[in-house]
Amino acid sequence: MHRRIPEETIIRLSYYLRVLIYLKEEERKELVSSSEIAHILKMSPHQLRKDLSYFGHFGKKGVGYSVSKLIQNLKEILGLNKKWYACVIGFGNLGKALSFYKGFKDQGIFIKVAFDVNPKKIKNYSGLKVYPIEKMEEIIKKEKIKIGIVTVPKDVAKEISNKLLKSGIKAIFNFAPIKLDLPKEIIFKNVDLSCQLAYLTYRLKLLE
Ligand code: NAD
Repeated sequence: MHRRIPEETIIRLSYYLRVLIYLKEEERKELVSSSEIAHILKMSPHQLRKDLSYFGHFGKKGVGYSVSKLIQNLKEILGLNKKWYACVIGFGNLGKALSFYKGFKDQGIFIKVAFDVNPKKIKNYSGLKVYPIEKMEEIIKKEKIKIGIVTVPKDVAKEISNKLLKSGIKAIFNFAPIKLDLPKEIIFKNVDLSCQLAYLTYRLKLLE
């Protein structure tokens, strides 16, 4: 039985990984201490060591961590050492931007296909095919797609998430500003930039 690991810990692992890749590629570092990583991220080394301790013992006392090894370990923990195929549903402004963003590939996440209701959007691009929504179930199964990225208008998002579940999708990344009723076993993340922006406006307001 796995210990329940806090979501924040998992998200912080990605930040540690990013710093380690930077240290390896830009600074050619081979060894690093928890204090150095924590200093870059402006956090406490204790928190970093606690996060890593959920998954085992990685560094050597007094020596630090091997940068390459820790990168490898974190990639394995996060499932980033294999390829994951994703699809976008709703090939509009946001869906298109996400589909063509190259950075996900570095994490092993490939947006292979997209779906839309608008016949004008059904096209082939290099590395991406846009299909009519009616083909969703068939294509998701055929292309072994594991992640559904929802970028449709909010009034159709629930219907789309139900279709995704029917297609066998277990992980949903939802951008539509609506709470989806998903079964417990579905892994999901809601992303709402408006709420994040409101944090900035709140802080700005305090400065006035
Ligand atoms: P858009 O209108 O440009 O794109 C929506 C696309 O969905 C269109 O191509 C449309 O044809 C398609 N669509 C509509 N109904 C569909 C259906 N039943 N099946 C498949 N495709 C369908 O909109 P946008 O600006 O790209 O925004 C998309 C969604 O993302 C909206 O829900 C918006 O509120 C949300 N959004 C979220 C954030 C965020 O931070 N979470 C930021 C921007 C937009």
